[in-house]
Amino acid sequence: MNGFAKKSSQFSFICKICEKETLKKTGKSDIYCENLYSHLLSDTHKKNTKQEEEQDYEQLKKLINDHLSNKKKKKKDEKGLSEKINEENEEVKVYLNFVAFLLKERLSYVQVERIGKYLQNLI
Ligand SMILES: [Zn+2]
Repeated sequence: MNGFAKKSSQFSFICKICEKETLKKTGKSDIYCENLYSHLLSDTHKKNTKQEEEQDYEQLKKLINDHLSNKKKKKKDEKGLSEKINEENEEVKVYLNFVAFLLKERLSYVQVERIGKYLQNLI
């Protein structure tokens, strides 16, 4: 499995074992680096992998799949977290707006503080 890919340009590589088919399919023999994983997981690459290298290939495939699903999962977690922060910010904003309103109504700081504390316990 080692050395099956050859750097072609800054952004592309040549898969040595699929070079001919890649050329036939796309009109050029190099593949963009961003397509490395999808190429390795493709039927073309699987078909061209020699039998004695199949085990290595399956291992690599598993590694890529794990990596990709981790990446996806991480993205989802990050999204969940930022949504949570947004929700919290929204609550804080409502609370601060309300405190500002109370101050404008010329309630004393002590009164505002008491109401504020009461509201905080509600949230
Ligand atoms: Zn290939």
